Formats: sequence, structure tokens, C-alpha cells
Amino acid sequence: MNARPPIGAAAEAGARTPRNGGALPEVLIEVHDLTKVYGTGDMAVHALRGVSLTIRTGEFVAIMGPSGSGKSTFMHLLGCLDHPTSGTYALAGQEVSRLGRDELALVRNKRIGFVFQSFNLLARTTAEENVELPMVYAGVPVQERARRAVEVLQQVGLGDRLDHLPSELSGGQQQRVAIGRALANNAPLLMADEPTGNLDSASSADIMALFRGLNRDHGITVVVVTHDITVAAWAERVVTFKDGLIIDDRPSVEVVPPAVRSAVLAGAAASEVRA
Ligand code: ADP
Ligand code: MG
Repeated sequence: MNARPPIGAAAEAGARTPRNGGALPEVLIEVHDLTKVYGTGDMAVHALRGVSLTIRTGEFVAIMGPSGSGKSTFMHLLGCLDHPTSGTYALAGQEVSRLGRDELALVRNKRIGFVFQSFNLLARTTAEENVELPMVYAGVPVQERARRAVEVLQQVGLGDRLDHLPSELSGGQQQRVAIGRALANNAPLLMADEPTGNLDSASSADIMALFRGLNRDHGITVVVVTHDITVAAWAERVVTFKDGLIIDDRPSVEVVPPAVRSAVLAGAAASEVRA
């Protein structure tokens, strides 16, 4: 199904992977009237109240909004980690909102890479082994796993840190390992919930530069939740949530103040040198 060539192969060939990989439909994500209610009766929390959104293959989208507005709930649904209370969700043309647990896990493994604020790496496990983990679950043979892990770690700029434990890496480097792990299975969709929330501003910019490179050069669709406008400035489109609804959906140039944008662009050059 996923005909996108491995990242290393594309880079070696000096080729820019076509944005839709030749295998993905133009519309990658289509959600309609999605709701999520946690709990019941007096305790019910209406986290999402009817969200409709289309994301095309190859987009780079930031999701913003105040704390409690439903961003993480929405990411969990998009990431096939949870079921909506009502509404529909088609991922690459496949309706996934009513799939069972096992089928949902398969979709997740094949299509989605996740990055979390707290990195979620295994502590006593090297960078290379952390990246190999999703391939273990996917049944990739040992030698191919190792080859691919080295390839993605080189891709995220950690080719010289394969044997390091998370405790031997900076926060930014740990997040790079997590991004490598998210890329391991060649997922066409990368989702990140506050990926720079634990990083200083220079490391944040480096991580966003990495996401932008994966998006531009490898056609990976990126959806990032952030409350930080300097992070959102890297995206092409900003979708804003409030009280469980989308209240704004515009190109990032219209949302990010010009002064913030130019500061980010100035920093971007530095990040690309570091990256
Ligand atoms: P955000 O990521 O924008 O801060 P969330 O999606 O985490 O927002 O939360 C939206 C609302 O749903 C909040 O009121 C939150 O307290 C509630 N909520 C989130 N997860 C759960 C849960 N597992 N059980 C009950 N309520 C939850
Ligand atoms: Mg959240």
C-alpha cells in the first residue's frame, strides 16, 4: 500500500519524493462532525462538539488553542488511539472511526508516526533500539530493522549517537530519536502533540526545522499541536480550537504576526546549519 520509497533511498537519489507518494489519495484526512464525550451524566465532558476538517497529503498543519480546548483529544482520534463518540473519520480513504482495536492498531502501525512532548523513549535502551521498536511490532526482520534504524537516525542527524542511552542525550536529541522512531515504519503521516514543550527555543527551532525538512523533502504530512506561535510559524496552515470546536482555519502567514515570522525565519537559517 505504502509505495513511498524509504527516506534514505530518496535522499541518496537526490530526488524529491512526489508529494502524494504515488500511492496516497490527495485527501489524507477527512473528518466530519466528530464529537467526543468523556464520562456520562453529570460527569460528562464534551471535549469535541462537532469538528469537521480536511487535510491534504503533503500539508504541514499546526493546531492551536487554549488548554482544555480539545486539541489532544482530537489528535488521539486522528492518531487512531481512540474512538469518537460520533462522526466519521476517513484516513487515506479508509473509514476508521468504527474499526475494532486490532484493526485500528494495524492502521496506526502502517500509516501514523507519533511524537510526544515527553519523548517517551525507553530509558535503558539505546537510540538505535528505540527506533527499532515499532519495526519489532511490525515483524520486520532483524537485519532490515538495524539497517533502517541507522538510516533514520542519520536522517534526523544522530548517525553518531546510535549506541547512546536517552540519559546520554540532550532533550533535543531525545526528541530526534523519537522522531526517528516515528519514521521507522515509513508512515506517511507524522503527528506530534506539543513536541517542543520540553525544549529550549533553539532546540525547538531545530526540531521544527527537521519536521519542515521531512514535509518538504519527503512529502510527509505533518500535524503538530502547539500553544507556541513561534512553533506554529513553521507550519503552512493553522487550525485553532476553542471549547471543542474549530474557530479558525487559515494559512499561517495570516495568523502569525510578521515580527514573529521574520524572527523565526532568521532563526531557521541557523537551525538548518545545526540540523
Ligand atoms: P487540550 O489538549 O486542548 O488541552 P484535551 O483534549 O486534553 O485539551 O481536553 C479537552 C477536555 O476534555 C478537557 O476539559 C479535559 O479535562 C477533558 N478530558 C481529556 N481527556 C479526558 C479523559 N480521559 N477523561 C475525562 N476528561 C478528559
Ligand atoms: Mg493537550
